[in-house]
Amino acid sequence: MRIKRVAAVAAVAALALGLTACGGDDGGDTGAGSKSFTAGTTMEKLNKAQKIKVGTKFDQPGFGLKGLSGKPEGFDVEIAKIIVKELGIPEDKIEWVEAPSKVREDVIVNGTVDLVAATYTINDKRKERIAFAGPYYEAGQNILVKKDDTTITGPDSFKDGTKKVCSVTGSTPAETIKQYVKDVGTQLVLFDTYDKCRDALKGGQVDAVTTDNVILLGYIAKDEASFKLAGSNFTKEPYGIGVKKEDADFRSFINDTLDKAVSDGSWKKAWDDTAGKFGAELGSAPTINRY
Ligand code: GLU
Repeated sequence: MRIKRVAAVAAVAALALGLTACGGDDGGDTGAGSKSFTAGTTMEKLNKAQKIKVGTKFDQPGFGLKGLSGKPEGFDVEIAKIIVKELGIPEDKIEWVEAPSKVREDVIVNGTVDLVAATYTINDKRKERIAFAGPYYEAGQNILVKKDDTTITGPDSFKDGTKKVCSVTGSTPAETIKQYVKDVGTQLVLFDTYDKCRDALKGGQVDAVTTDNVILLGYIAKDEASFKLAGSNFTKEPYGIGVKKEDADFRSFINDTLDKAVSDGSWKKAWDDTAGKFGAELGSAPTINRY
């Protein structure tokens, strides 16, 4: 009788162990499904769905550029892939959604995407609508001019009111440059994406493009004969991953993932494989702001 009971207990225990093993591994030979997350979290929801929508740029060499492969490539894209891998989702299950500067908060708030990785400066105004994990990089605003230009040497060059400068609607550089131009109405030209500004500079419709140095360095790398930077960075642009404002668990998970990426070398590798080829400095990893 006693022996029977022991055997029964052992059988139940074995069954429980078996179930645990199954629950902890959804199968899949990539290992992608082998993560488990607290029920009810965004991480669990995404992992269960085995797919994710990521907002990024499609027109920024080195950070997010959609080329012939049909998939965007760049540092932001690689950072997003690191996060997606940590969620246990295979890379080919990422749906890449173009997220130009102006729409980034909107696509997070309305759920068009699950996260945004798109040269996205962390600031208080944006934090009123969304939340940021990170920073994972710090860029700075600069100015792109034609290679033979000697008249524009920094943002003060716009103060005399004669030069036109292009930037992107909804970006921090578009706001910052307003403090330097004499007449916003005639001098500041705004498009929805930076590649349009680059084309306007090349075509002579504007005298300069202003945004983060790393975006401009990407354009220079693709067309060294035409462009150069005018002067030094004049702002600090810490890049964060945008998520829903109320989703503290997801933000914390991404922060942990970024910390891990720095310590295991995947952050540096992501840089070296992408924007690092275009002459920008990676520097040391910025301290994550767990606000
Ligand atoms: N980092 C700046 C921003 O978030 C400029 C780059 C961009 O527009 O994506 O506004």
